[in-house]
Amino acid sequence: MSSIETKTNLLGLSPDELEQYFVARGEKPFRARQVLHWIYRRGITCFDDMTDLSKATREWLNAEAAITLPDVQSRHDSSDGTVKWLFASGQGQAIETVFIPESGRGTLCISSQVGCALDCAFCATGAQGFNRNLSSGEIVGQVWHAVRELPRRDTGDSAVTNVVFMGMGEPLANYRNVVPVLELLVSDLAYGLSRRRVTLSTSGIVPLIEKLGDACNVSLAVSLHAPNDDLRNELVPVNKLHPISTLLDACWDYAAKHANRFITFEYVMLRGVNDSLAHADQLVDLLNGRPAKVNLIPFNPFPGTRFKRSSADTIRYFQDRLRQRGLVATTRKTRGDDIDAACGQLAGRVSDRVRIPLGKKSISDKTSGKAKTRVASV
Ligand code: SAH
Ligand code: SF4
Repeated sequence: MSSIETKTNLLGLSPDELEQYFVARGEKPFRARQVLHWIYRRGITCFDDMTDLSKATREWLNAEAAITLPDVQSRHDSSDGTVKWLFASGQGQAIETVFIPESGRGTLCISSQVGCALDCAFCATGAQGFNRNLSSGEIVGQVWHAVRELPRRDTGDSAVTNVVFMGMGEPLANYRNVVPVLELLVSDLAYGLSRRRVTLSTSGIVPLIEKLGDACNVSLAVSLHAPNDDLRNELVPVNKLHPISTLLDACWDYAAKHANRFITFEYVMLRGVNDSLAHADQLVDLLNGRPAKVNLIPFNPFPGTRFKRSSADTIRYFQDRLRQRGLVATTRKTRGDDIDAACGQLAGRVSDRVRIPLGKKSISDKTSGKAKTRVASV
């Protein structure tokens, strides 16, 4: 075993975890704040360059700790400014991260798992099956690389103003490793993003939505995609465990815990499947009068899929109907077409095909049980 493997990776430890790490080694708590600043604000990962640490501290850090980043395998730049990175995730596999520049903001879409077990019918990641959870360091490392590689804005601020967990994987199925990253994203000691600018997207693992609501208050997006259980059971199989009514109750509880901030409901527009005006009306009946907005996502095809994208007219009529009946509804612009960087097209390279059978106690328990990859725990 090489020495690096026996070292604690400090990348991905939450601010509290890092503080405990230093205190347990007889250091003052403010050491953690200094190191957070160096890693996330300054992009420094070499202890010897952390000039406000004493020589003795740097020495023991060099001996027992490391700041280990995921390796960038390739970078692809789209003609529309979208950037996609592939990160090596071991055993010849890769995960993907996408940066989407828009006027006034830049959104980074990050991955939380290698593949995904939840097998949604229209998703390229789901079609690949599940391999493993990413560690906290591998998740926040995607942000670290993007912030460092992208040119800063005119104001001098980072190009990354928003982070969304909408890349590969189901973030709540990797709850244990995702929560420290959420804390780093919103902590003033690290990335300092407003909670409104950090969005976790989930296909609807209800018990963990409840748990997340107590742990932190980032923005929540829920992949609804169908307005009734029969159709949702087909499109988003986790619905068989957590049907729409239970899911929505958890959503309204989440909103209530956080000053009734709106929850975004994602709805992928699949031609002839979920895109009729009758479906729009059912959706209104579910969400009207609630802290909800709908984001329609034109389906992004991938090789082997049986679905087609709804026409632009159909999407417009659907959106108009939602709006006429009082819902806030937007349609997501598809970006990065020329580099396969659009929502749901992220496939990276996943070789182990494991699907978690539905009907077992809990998908989340099964997958988070595999979270051996958390590189450091204190
Ligand atoms: N697992 C989480 C987050 C990752 S997927 C989730 O499901 O919410 C991010 C979003 O992309 C989800 O709303 C997902 O349903 C959507 N998506 C998946 N495949 C898609 C495709 N082929 N076209 C458009 N959107 C897709
Ligand atoms: Fe997994 Fe989300 Fe894709 Fe469903 S849509 S298979 S939950 S990544």
